[in-house]
Amino acid sequence: MSDYDVVIVGGGPAGLAAGLYAARMNLKTVLVDRGALGGQLLNTELIEDYPGIETILGSELATKMGDHARKFGLLVRDFEPVKEIDVEGDQLGPSWPRSRANTKVVRLESGQELRAPALIMAAGGLPRYLDVPGEKAFWGRGVSYCAVCDGAFFKGQELAVVGGGDAAVEEGDFLTRYASKVYILHRRHELRAQPILVDRARANPKIEFILGSAVKEIAGDEKVKAIRYEQGGSARELPVGGVFIFIGFVPNSGLFKVHIDHDEGGYIITGRDMQTSVEGIWAVGDVRAQLTKQIATAVGDGTTAAVAASLYVTSLKDAARA
Ligand code: NAP
Repeated sequence: MSDYDVVIVGGGPAGLAAGLYAARMNLKTVLVDRGALGGQLLNTELIEDYPGIETILGSELATKMGDHARKFGLLVRDFEPVKEIDVEGDQLGPSWPRSRANTKVVRLESGQELRAPALIMAAGGLPRYLDVPGEKAFWGRGVSYCAVCDGAFFKGQELAVVGGGDAAVEEGDFLTRYASKVYILHRRHELRAQPILVDRARANPKIEFILGSAVKEIAGDEKVKAIRYEQGGSARELPVGGVFIFIGFVPNSGLFKVHIDHDEGGYIITGRDMQTSVEGIWAVGDVRAQLTKQIATAVGDGTTAAVAASLYVTSLKDAARA
């Protein structure tokens, strides 16, 4: 027995786009989020790369997306943390349509359950935090976790990048499109990033590596002004206009009680239409393995998954009537 046609877990751009489309296609759709609607939009100051909208505050776009989806009948359960996601009934594998559906059960911390044949996982994830003084205080005022989103705000400035993996080195290289200089600070003397990325970065005259450095503080007044770190036992300070932190990203894929295929980083693996390895479960946005984490791609993922979920639910209803 299902209460809904579709349950969506996560209320960022991917989940809200899925919710808008699913509700507008007359599917009985509920979206659940542990906090306020908006996801990472709520941690983004200014957005200027969403097509058709020259500039908008992240919080404003979140409100607009939520209102828009609700207008078409999306039911929203915000501030409702999810405890676990389970599948009841046969595990039929990834090929569909099938005549027998299993039921996806979303158990909330409150003890309630949301049940539907289709589930769209849009719970995103969080950047790994450095956890140093100033990081939280200057988030959106010089501290960033996304070079594509925020790099253009730092034209002509000197920047610090923290991390030694592929993301830090590649994004550091990308940031030199805007910055006059990029310092890459890494805690060890060896970089984890692939040699090809390191070679490219070393050949870039705007990049300087500061290895064996432990970041201690991000300092400033209204905005970031400096990064403080320790190197070889000495305390040092670099004046910078921004600090980009790339020390990993943790996708929120751990809610499933059943096995769902994921990569070594925990990102859920999907097919062309966002279908996961479990029939009737789609994954969209930052929680899935993909090239980039952008609002526009998240919205595209959500749209695709909603259409696929609609076809799936319709095929189940047709089969039940036959
Ligand atoms: P990652 O490979 O896990 O690297 C994280 C880096 O952050 C490591 O150098 C690590 O240092 C450092 N770090 C972790 N915690 C830290 C802390 N508390 N303080 C200071 N430094 C810390 O993460 P990623 O670079 O985000 O990449 C994630 C995945 O995406 C990887 O599989 C990567 O290959 C892939 N990726 C690929 C590309 C590409 O192919 N072009 C681009 C981006 C990402 P240690 O080295 O000392 O552990």
